[in-house]
Amino acid sequence: MNTKKYDYIVVGGGSGGIASARRAAEYGAKVLLIENSHLGGTCVNVGCVPKKVMWSASQIHETINLAHQYGIPVSTTHLDWHKLKSSRDAYIQRLNGIYARNLERSGVSVKHGLAHFASPNCIQVNQEKFLSDHILISTGGLPSNPTIEGAELGIDSNGFFTLAQQPSNLLVVGSGYIATELAGLMHGLGSHVTMALRKNRLLGAFDTDLQQTVLEQMEESGIEIIRNISLAKLKGQTGAIEYEDTDGNMKGGFDCVIWAIGRRPNTQNLNLTNAGLSTNERGFIDTDEFQNTSQPGIYAVGDVTPRAQLTPVAIAAGRKLSDRVFGGQNDAKLDYSNIPTVVFSHPPVGTVGLTEAAAIERFGKESIKVYRNTFVDLYFALCEHKPRTLVKLIVQGSDERVVGCHVAGRGADEMIQGFAVAIKMGATKSDLDNTVAIHPTAAEELVTLRN
Ligand code: FAD
Ligand code: NDP
Repeated sequence: MNTKKYDYIVVGGGSGGIASARRAAEYGAKVLLIENSHLGGTCVNVGCVPKKVMWSASQIHETINLAHQYGIPVSTTHLDWHKLKSSRDAYIQRLNGIYARNLERSGVSVKHGLAHFASPNCIQVNQEKFLSDHILISTGGLPSNPTIEGAELGIDSNGFFTLAQQPSNLLVVGSGYIATELAGLMHGLGSHVTMALRKNRLLGAFDTDLQQTVLEQMEESGIEIIRNISLAKLKGQTGAIEYEDTDGNMKGGFDCVIWAIGRRPNTQNLNLTNAGLSTNERGFIDTDEFQNTSQPGIYAVGDVTPRAQLTPVAIAAGRKLSDRVFGGQNDAKLDYSNIPTVVFSHPPVGTVGLTEAAAIERFGKESIKVYRNTFVDLYFALCEHKPRTLVKLIVQGSDERVVGCHVAGRGADEMIQGFAVAIKMGATKSDLDNTVAIHPTAAEELVTLRN
């Protein structure tokens, strides 16, 4: 059997793996990256990128349908789903090529195939073995699907991106990022959308004010939201699906059901026991703050670890790891605090720092103060429907250090990055107040908040 030796082997060519491999190669390491599917991983192929294209299409569609209220007499008659999908797929194919060329340019060797551990320092792909003293596991995650009867009649987010036709009557099961985003964008594109929530709220990890704002506005926009429901089975056939819940209630007529109930780490093919590694009780690979697993020389980053499942987190952790192992920066590690995030919902949500409940738990109720406002974005000035934007700051201590910043409303997606910089630097409420507002914007509300 052919055995080659590398300074660094990266298993998984998604966000974290590519970033770490390229950074290591730029330090002069001889690097092999192994990927069994398309380069770019979840984000590029079945995640952030195609999702954002669909979200943008939905925004454009909604804007066109508001235009007549601004005296612009246009409206849409139908959506050319085929054109949208084929243009999106072509764009992603181009990105796959760019990723391949960038890896080549950085001097990273790429092997296509399914990798597994033959031993702690040996990775096998088919009949080939590759040795290294430094191996990164960056195999990401997969959608979780339920095990109820008829579950196979539904699709997951991967299946959503293969849909050849626009569903006309869609059921989205779940309440997290993916459910909220797909329900909102499909409604915006003209599908009838029903959401089935296991509890009475969505976006459970977010501040309750954000949860309520998004839920109310999605419902007002015409999305049918069924709360506190647990599905027992799906019946029917592809294109005509009915559900039965655990109380025996039934509802049918769905031409598409999407499961969006969380994601699980993708370790199934790795033969981790050959590496002397095990997963935690939820299946993730635990690491210390430097991305070291329990086995010396084996590291893990991204969705396969129990940290925030976000592309920039995987990228940053992967780069810091290479800075440490190959760049001589012995203390390099990702600071996982104050990670900003956006849900591309309708309305979008931007958030950084602690929720009100988490701030109370950490600092005590008497030590925190909440500044909050809602307002109609000037964008809707001439429109009949006037959704309200929510802005909320949570500050702590006598100097009123900002520990949480939350926005739900038009523009939240582009607003939060700058505030995240300020908060990461330790901004106080008076620092925000001393910043001159930009008028008329929605963002100015965050520097003009009063009690
Ligand atoms: P991945 O990108 O999943 O890459 C893992 C790679 O490893 C895959 O290409 C896989 O094929 C490969 N692999 C697995 N096992 C093996 C093996 N044994 N051998 C060889 N190769 C293997 N994040 C954001 O920040 N913003 C967003 O807007 C956003 N939107 C999302 C929308 C959706 C629908 C989804 C599903 C996710 C979204 N995410 C978003 C999350 C983001 O995509 C992930 O956090 C990110 O891709 C994780 O990167 P990773 O490197 O850990 O894994
Ligand atoms: P999430 O973790 O966001 O949400 C999953 C939710 O589904 C759970 O919180 C739970 O909500 C609900 N759920 C779980 N099991 C069931 C069930 N059997 N029936 C009904 N509901 C159930 O997972 P997603 O799959 O939406 O997304 C995975 C991750 O991908 C996200 O956490 C995020 O990190 C990343 N992502 C990021 C995006 C972005 O940055 N914009 C976009 C998309 C994904 P409850 O507790 O209320 O029951």
